[in-house]
Amino acid sequence: MKVLVPVKRVVDFNVKVRVKSDGSGVDIANVKMSMNPFDEIAVEEATRLKEGGKVTEVVAVSCGVTQCQETLRTAMAIGADRGILVETDTELQPLAVAKLLKAVADKEQPQLIILGKQAIDDDCNQTGQMLAALLGWPQATFASKVMLEDGKATVTREVDGGLETIALTLPAVVTTDLRLNEPRYVTLPNIMKAKKKQLDTVKPADLGVDVAPRLKTLKVSEPPKRSAGITVPDAAALVAKLKNEAKVI
Ligand code: AMP
Repeated sequence: MKVLVPVKRVVDFNVKVRVKSDGSGVDIANVKMSMNPFDEIAVEEATRLKEGGKVTEVVAVSCGVTQCQETLRTAMAIGADRGILVETDTELQPLAVAKLLKAVADKEQPQLIILGKQAIDDDCNQTGQMLAALLGWPQATFASKVMLEDGKATVTREVDGGLETIALTLPAVVTTDLRLNEPRYVTLPNIMKAKKKQLDTVKPADLGVDVAPRLKTLKVSEPPKRSAGITVPDAAALVAKLKNEAKVI
């Protein structure tokens, strides 16, 4: 059974992004880029399913600029068997990515697609859901446990106030939550091995997909600055302020 894992190249989570002076977006020139953390969890999960004998092949897919090859190599160093780059310089929005992934899925015929629940750059949380709709497949979002048995996936989801367990008939789409697993540390020998794995490149036009943006960003701005704190002389003054000014007690 084949698993497809879409991986997005995003600004590294440790980078403090700066808004461009014209408010048109954030400045990503010369900024460290990495795999979206939720996608690392997805690759780790697919790799563990393969190591557990439930899966035979893990294919990583990334849509975007040429440098997404690095993201695919990281996925292959974690455990993906091969990679597919859908190469384009056009800024991709979730609907375009979902259409590209549907076209790849039509070709590759995976039984399971594991995506991150959201990309940390756009925070959209849309691609997995749109992909499931386009494919007409069942979906389980925010997975904290995935089990495969007899053509079915049993997925535990984190919901308000507890856990929900659902059964899905394969093929299906799953999106990862933070607690699904802790991705392994990528070792140097595995980075070297990943360099030799197969990486194919296709263009959106080869897949018959129009990736033109449908949404226009009107403005990006910094969050308001936090105002400075104050020092109170003693506990009594603190309690008085919490009671009379902040009105929280
Ligand atoms: P989003 O809907 O943008 O928050 O992204 C959710 C998930 O969709 C990500 O965690 C990835 O698994 C996948 N995804 C989004 N954009 C891309 C992309 N350009 N290439 C590959 N996968 C993507």
